[in-house]
Amino acid sequence: MRGESVVVVGAGQAGCQVAVSLREQGHRGPITLIGDEQAAPYQRPPLTKAYLAGETDLAGLVLRQDSYYDDHGIKLVRNERVIGVDRQARVAVLGCARTISYDHLVFATGARPRPLPIPGAEHVLNLRTVADADAIRQRLEGQIGLDVVVIGGGFIGLEFAAVVRKLRHEVTVVEAQGQVMQRAVSAETAQHLVNRHRSEGVQILTGTGVGAVREGLVELTDGTVLVADLVVAGIGVIPNTEVAQRAGLAVDNGILVDSHLRTVDPRIHALGDCARFASTHAGGLIRLESVQNATDQGTTVAAAIMGSAEPYTALPWFWSDQYDVKLQTAGLTNGHDRTVTVGDPAEGRFSVFCFKNDRLIGIEAYNRPIDFLMGRRILEGGNSLTPEIVARPGFDLRASQQKAA
Ligand code: FAD
Ligand code: NDP
Repeated sequence: MRGESVVVVGAGQAGCQVAVSLREQGHRGPITLIGDEQAAPYQRPPLTKAYLAGETDLAGLVLRQDSYYDDHGIKLVRNERVIGVDRQARVAVLGCARTISYDHLVFATGARPRPLPIPGAEHVLNLRTVADADAIRQRLEGQIGLDVVVIGGGFIGLEFAAVVRKLRHEVTVVEAQGQVMQRAVSAETAQHLVNRHRSEGVQILTGTGVGAVREGLVELTDGTVLVADLVVAGIGVIPNTEVAQRAGLAVDNGILVDSHLRTVDPRIHALGDCARFASTHAGGLIRLESVQNATDQGTTVAAAIMGSAEPYTALPWFWSDQYDVKLQTAGLTNGHDRTVTVGDPAEGRFSVFCFKNDRLIGIEAYNRPIDFLMGRRILEGGNSLTPEIVARPGFDLRASQQKAA
């Protein structure tokens, strides 16, 4: 097991973690980490935060210094695409026609922005890579008061809007659904975020789509026309599954893997944004798009290659920074049928406890980091909190757990 060769396709957060964890767990065989971007593996979260604001540079984003890969015998291949995998011959085929043989192969190919299906989409920028962020920064640099339209009120749209507003541009966010961040948070939390953005001067339009983009203008489906010096879309992503599919692996909104993150081929694993896996927390198949998921799954896949039979069970969690709001979510709150809010919403410090069939499934902590930390612990350990307990006047999560212990 220890001398076997591993090829990791995709050098992002997940792929890099597999390589690092393999070495940390004592793997001695060759590791090749292949990525199609020019930059060494880097973290994407600062792209909508400090990097966009010009507060850090590429050196502040990279996951490991360049020397790390040499020092740990990890062959990092940059700026090269894997275009095929021959499972019989056990080789990965690169765009330059070179082949690399493997004993284990890992798909960590991530996801790409969902294309905007409207006329004029070529005028719209995306934000996924450092190259995308550089292109946006270039358009904003040295100017103030530009009219910026953001299509999509999800994670990217709102984080981007907060930074662009801080850079003193006018921002309008257009969200097709009736609520921003509909898939990620409860209506209560979403409304507080909207209020916060509006108080900062951001215009948020919900329940309306974009019909067309023309040079300098965005036409909404309700007939409104917005002036736009810059249009950026964040309307979700689609997983990069084509190479896996051509290799004959099962694909359905992600490369399908079991609870051990293994595909139908026992020599091939998949993880991170590109993988749809069997999750106890979701009660079925799910694809998660977060740093926590990419890194924790990286550790699990490395362990599986090293012979572990442990399934992937980590509790999902997310965070988002917008202005001085730190939103942290423990568990999956999607699908809740009841919420109880604790804390002081008027002061911008509260937590929304989300229940499904009276069972706590997640906590959204809005500037309440202690609830997030405690919430993770109790959600990981199983919990008996009911809406009635949480709704009692003066309920305190920490005190309730000390009492229970
Ligand atoms: P990626 O990071 O996308 O890496 C996949 C890599 O594989 C890419 O470099 C891709 O180009 C490459 N690749 C694809 N196909 C091939 C191929 N055939 N050959 C070679 N290389 C290939 N998550 C959070 O939890 N918190 C945040 O605050 C947060 N902020 C974010 C901000 C932005 C702007 C973005 C875009 C994402 C953010 N995320 C955040 C999400 C998080 O970054 C992703 O979930 C995470 O990067 C997923 O890691 P991954 O390795 O699966 O995919
Ligand atoms: P999200 O899925 O978070 O949000 C996209 C939003 O745009 C959804 O509300 C979506 O609605 C809406 N939308 C879809 N089509 C249209 C349309 N035509 N017009 C207007 N609105 C539309 O994706 P993002 O693009 O914001 O983020 C991309 C990736 O980056 C995700 O993986 C995300 O997790 C990650 N990310 C994470 C961050 C974090 O965790 N803090 C920060 C930034 C990015 P619907 O649901 O109906 O499709």
